[in-house]
Amino acid sequence: MRISLRTIAKLSTGLLIVVIFLFARPLGAQHTSPTADAQKPPLLSAAEVGALDQELSGETAKRNLEGIVRFHRVRGSRGFHDAAELVAERARAYGLSDVQIMEFPADGKIFYGTQRSRPPWDADFAELWEMQEKDGKWSPAVRLASWDAMPVTLAEDSESADVTADLVDVGDGTKESDYAGKDVRGKIVLAAAQPGGVQHLAVEVHGAAGIVSYALNQPQAWQGEDENLIRWGHLESFAPVKTFAFMASLKTARGLRARLAHGETIRLHAVVKAGQHPGAYNIVTATIPGADPKLREEEIAFSCHLDHQRPGANDNASGCVTILEVARTLRKLITEGKLARPARTLRFIWPPEIEGTTTLLNARPEFASRIKAVVHMDMVGGGPATKAIFHVTRGPMSLPSFVYDVGEAFGDFVNRESDLYASTGAALYPFVSTEGGKEALQAEFADYTMGSDHDVYQEGSFRIPAVYLNDWPDRYIHTNGDTSANIDPTKLKRAAFIGAASGYFLAKMNEKDVPEMLAIADRDSLRRLAKVLERRSLLISEEADSKSRFSLGYDREVDESITRFAPLNERTESRVAHFDDMRSPYKAIWSQDPRVTPDLGKVTFIRVGNAKGPMAVFGYDYLMDHLALAKLMRPKLLDYQGLWGAGEEYAFETLNFVDGKRNAQQVRDGVSAEYGPIPLESIVEYLNALEVIGVLKRVPAQTPK
Ligand SMILES: [Zn+2]
Repeated sequence: MRISLRTIAKLSTGLLIVVIFLFARPLGAQHTSPTADAQKPPLLSAAEVGALDQELSGETAKRNLEGIVRFHRVRGSRGFHDAAELVAERARAYGLSDVQIMEFPADGKIFYGTQRSRPPWDADFAELWEMQEKDGKWSPAVRLASWDAMPVTLAEDSESADVTADLVDVGDGTKESDYAGKDVRGKIVLAAAQPGGVQHLAVEVHGAAGIVSYALNQPQAWQGEDENLIRWGHLESFAPVKTFAFMASLKTARGLRARLAHGETIRLHAVVKAGQHPGAYNIVTATIPGADPKLREEEIAFSCHLDHQRPGANDNASGCVTILEVARTLRKLITEGKLARPARTLRFIWPPEIEGTTTLLNARPEFASRIKAVVHMDMVGGGPATKAIFHVTRGPMSLPSFVYDVGEAFGDFVNRESDLYASTGAALYPFVSTEGGKEALQAEFADYTMGSDHDVYQEGSFRIPAVYLNDWPDRYIHTNGDTSANIDPTKLKRAAFIGAASGYFLAKMNEKDVPEMLAIADRDSLRRLAKVLERRSLLISEEADSKSRFSLGYDREVDESITRFAPLNERTESRVAHFDDMRSPYKAIWSQDPRVTPDLGKVTFIRVGNAKGPMAVFGYDYLMDHLALAKLMRPKLLDYQGLWGAGEEYAFETLNFVDGKRNAQQVRDGVSAEYGPIPLESIVEYLNALEVIGVLKRVPAQTPK
């Protein structure tokens, strides 16, 4: 239905006033909806949800975001520390407890589990000028890059330099053939790839003085479409030969390449005052202490990552200010008595991405043992300009938990309410910010995807379930275009609600909540069962049966995981015990006999040693580094592409499924159920490699009694 402007203009002023009056209903319209008394939100009371809806502010979150995006926030840098101070100052102003900026030494040598600490990196000055010749004399003419104006134009881990040199186009710059017939010694190379991928060949092998990179944004449909974007660039943190790199837009690079192709000499002057130095990772943390003297030792954590390039609005100032808004809101509502203080402690953590979380859980093991569940937010504010789809993402299949179903329940609730509001103009809980959009949220409920700190919590070393709230794609990710202008306060408010409601529920969850929680977990498990039935059609019967058996086992464990938070009573216990009976009509579809295990698959491993955390972390790859030391080939599994997952995911979950009980065949069946069938040989090769580098140990074969 559309009303043209001309029609509106024809209306008399008096009529217009009546029209405005009729449509000017208050947001929420709690008292006018006929269904107000007939509806109930999931897991929390109407009063609790109403209090959160009224207090959570997308505007407050966005004002804080506008503060954080002023800083170029590289791990351990002055910019990161300034952002950390901003968050800590707000946390204190909001009355949170135990506010502190923790420091963990980082010097390139200290290991925190699988994370080799990266030395902090700071820059004081960097400019790139194009020189012009006049009367045989060269002088600076056009400034191509400035650290002061746009820090994103200097690649992370650049080292000091003062170089005047000609520019040479090396295409991608990542293959030997890119350098054929070119003399780059002492010159600056212009390359399409990320500086870190170029530096070995360009600088170490061929003696180039530095790099100008026009690496594109992360792969997605909009990659390369906006040729003005400048991408955040990285050199290798642990490269033996240091260099510098500037980042240019595609537009600038195309101009330079065209001129070089015509045989023009382009001379650049690069001045860089920057470098790595020993220092520390900073991690901000704060709490809202729990009410129960016994249970307050247990924590529900809210996580994000505070690092990234300036402005880095959606990735990830958005997640940081949203958990800060959750903290402000919950603390205020608890103090005012609008929400009861939950039994468990609420913990808030602002680290540098992945490396900070890996450091924290290794250096302060009490965090790992106290935290029972995590709500992790990474990119939660993308408005329409970003083309983002919002996701509420489950954890991996190696870690069955009802915690994900809590996130899905609140995500589903916001989907319904925001859709109703967008379509009719009235809903009990519209979750709308005055400055923000009014469209429906349309959150997707996704199976586990990797790529942020939730990986670390859920890794086999820690096994802490996490609800992951995340936008994807975002056409401005990791570029100067990721600005606060793209951030929608309504979206921040909705992410804050899903997070706050999930975390608050988990913090106060007790025996009384179990029946509703079980009902929700059951409902979700039937939804997953429908997906299993759908995917069976893609598999040969042996694989389809194996996947079906495994998936049902996963769902059973989801139910059982509730006991980690609240005891079952007689009724709920029998319900969990009869999980299989309730699904017997479906179980007839597949064979119940486990496959015959070949000798190759009979070996069982257990994780050993202090290398806790994911094998590949930020700026450091524990696996590849240690495989090289052991002179081992790259395991085939790392490059495997399955039906629903790729090598990195197979590697992550293969190790997570190792528990000292499952044999290699069972590990293989687990990852195959999750990501699609993979040959047993690839799994065994990977497990053997992990044994050689000391991450796994064989469990002696049990002789049957
Ligand atoms: Zn991120």
